[in-house]
Amino acid sequence: MSTALPPLRHFELDDADPTLLAGRRVAILGYGNQGRAHALNLRDSGVEVVVGLREGSRRREQAARDGFVVKGLAEAATGAFIVMVLVPDEVHGEVYREQIEPVMSGDSHLAFAHGFSMAFGLVTPPPQQSTLLVAPKGQGDKLREAFLAGGGLPGLIGVQGPDPGESLKVALAYARACGALAGGGLLSSFREEAVTDLFGEQVVLCGGMVELITAAWETLVGRGYSPEGAYFECLHEVKIIADLIHQRGVDGMREGISTTAAYGGLKAAPRIITEETRRTMEGMLDEIESGDFARAFLAEQERGSPWLESMKQNERDHPMQKTGRRLRDFLRRCQLDGGTQDGSRRE
Ligand code: NAD
Ligand code: MG
Repeated sequence: MSTALPPLRHFELDDADPTLLAGRRVAILGYGNQGRAHALNLRDSGVEVVVGLREGSRRREQAARDGFVVKGLAEAATGAFIVMVLVPDEVHGEVYREQIEPVMSGDSHLAFAHGFSMAFGLVTPPPQQSTLLVAPKGQGDKLREAFLAGGGLPGLIGVQGPDPGESLKVALAYARACGALAGGGLLSSFREEAVTDLFGEQVVLCGGMVELITAAWETLVGRGYSPEGAYFECLHEVKIIADLIHQRGVDGMREGISTTAAYGGLKAAPRIITEETRRTMEGMLDEIESGDFARAFLAEQERGSPWLESMKQNERDHPMQKTGRRLRDFLRRCQLDGGTQDGSRRE
């Protein structure tokens, strides 16, 4: 692998001009996890926000209670300077075609918080359409929490359209106002954000790591070790190492653990992640890049997610989850019992 680093393509708060959004309206379509956080943060940044929701959406009441003007999707998008699409990725295509495209004007910007629908052809705006990607790297409630604490989450920023420079200015102003720049902004693209996001969640975060934990737990328990002990070592302690890696990088983590753990870990690594595993990763990346994964996911959604639901049920029924529920309860109780009323620890 090459060791030469390309220049960091990054943005800070001062790179955004907040006056770009002054006196302009932003339509937030969808009021779920991301939608609510974007809408509240934008409003607190002084931006005029209108929320767009389907007729009969349960979220209408919540958005109105939060003090927003709530309209239908097309009605909200009409005349907005930025139309931020925060409905689930799998419906971006129909919402764009039916509600947004017919009302977009030449000087308005279409925006997304994830590159999926643009990268895999669900949404294909005309070449003259300025399209923005502002992808906060975290859930909506975390975005709101960080914003209220005076900061924000990191965000990936991308643009597409006839005047990328102008689109980037608008994307940065939006990112700043919604709290996705104070944590640092990195230049990306719809495709890069979508592919790397899917690859990361499949291979590491929600796929590989989870199966590694489960298989390790099953191995220990299969040999008669206690389910609680196995849970503690193979799952509970993941957070300790993840925090260390997050703060110091892998090499810094290695310096912060015991010599036994450092030696054992380095010896084990290539036996667990073998050449075959690496080939499998390549194959998965091929499936993501070619759009095969996106097509399979959308087909599953079409069918009403029977496979996903049954897999989630199997996971809930797995004995490791039962062990986890019991152990987490126990640990929580001990923590409560171990603290005095003013929150300090008992000796
Ligand atoms: P969500 O499911 O929490 O909310 C979706 C909203 O869309 C709700 O208001 C829902 O009522 C509405 N909606 C659902 N189906 C609809 C339909 N057919 N037509 C119109 N409206 C419909 O979704 P979310 O997690 O906030 O995701 C929104 C976008 O943000 C997605 O592109 C997602 O990839 C992106 N994103 C999510 C996260 C996250 O952590 N959840 C992080 C970054 C980016
Ligand atoms: Mg993801």
